[in-house]
Amino acid sequence: MNMKLETLAVHAGAEPDPETGAVAPPIHLSTTFRHGPAAERVAGYEYQREGNPTQDRLEAALAALEGGAAALAYASGMAAISGLLEALPPGARVLLPDDCYSGTRYLANEFLPQRDVSAAFVDMSDLAAVEAACAVPATLLWVETPSNPLMKISDIAGLARIARERDALLCCDNTFATPVLQQPLALGADVVMHSTTKYFGGHSDVLGGALVFARRDVLFEAVAHRRHITGGVLSPFSAWLTLRGCRSLPARMAMHCANARALAEFLAAHPAVARVNWPGLPTHPGHDIARAQMRDYGAMLSLQVRGGREAALKVAGKLELFTNATSLGGCESLVEHRASTEGPHPVSPQDLLRVSVGLEHADDLIADWARALA
Ligand SMILES: *Cc1c(COP(=O)(O)O)cnc(C)c1O
Repeated sequence: MNMKLETLAVHAGAEPDPETGAVAPPIHLSTTFRHGPAAERVAGYEYQREGNPTQDRLEAALAALEGGAAALAYASGMAAISGLLEALPPGARVLLPDDCYSGTRYLANEFLPQRDVSAAFVDMSDLAAVEAACAVPATLLWVETPSNPLMKISDIAGLARIARERDALLCCDNTFATPVLQQPLALGADVVMHSTTKYFGGHSDVLGGALVFARRDVLFEAVAHRRHITGGVLSPFSAWLTLRGCRSLPARMAMHCANARALAEFLAAHPAVARVNWPGLPTHPGHDIARAQMRDYGAMLSLQVRGGREAALKVAGKLELFTNATSLGGCESLVEHRASTEGPHPVSPQDLLRVSVGLEHADDLIADWARALA
């Protein structure tokens, strides 16, 4: 049956337990599975690190939601990223966004060179710049869209064309958008990466990551083998919590996005705010591409407060519903002065606050900002 995303989210990997008829899936905690005297598999499983039934259900759901052929779940988003990047052969060259997630940047700068894999950073929202960077042949292009913290938008189909013409792979970190808003594989990407810690988990209580592959090919087999041997798998309990998050993901994203729109429009009209970075605003430089490749504009936004760093910190301190904390994608709204969390060499503007818009009522969220900005 050709199902809509909302239906897939509820039903993928959700077959009732064949043994008991339980409608909610069982959590199989067993690390080992009975086999025959010559290690003949009885029910398809052998050892939890290699594969287990709860993880299989989550992977089936992730592959279905992204429209991929196969998925691999990991203990964290970073484990998923390193699972792919560290599977590249020596001599490979990776192009990464100049504003990519800080963990991805550390991995590329500290660990990839040790494996003779080089990394270059480029503005992925500028296709001409990407083509120029491909003058030195690249093995893999990495894109994150919307990006952090300016919510820059990159043209996934355009990047896929550049990659394809040069026999390179395209991987999209789809953490901010989720497959509800954007499906990179349908736009030509080869792999999608998620920190499921964020919207998939959805309740700020489970760490996890995933890779979803367009094809079940040699790359998939190599990365799957690597995960089995290096062991960065997701625990069954975490797989179960993440699977539970999948069920309500489309419903949550709809409300996250509606709240983000209401807040972004309020903030954009506020005299104490110099600038709002949210791709749903027609003034955002990536608005047209976002409108073409996304179903809605997401619930991550940032704003730049008039008065610089001191003014931004004061506002962040006055908010009551928005907790000062890192991460995103949970039911509760969060705010963060990014520059303060970026270590000795911050890249975010000092007047910038990043906001993860939660599932509270929009009126209450707006009232909180109105009070804090007054
Ligand atoms: C959080 C995050 C990651 C890393 O994921 P973890 O689950 O924290 O390891 C990667 N990319 C993006 C865009 C993220 O927000």
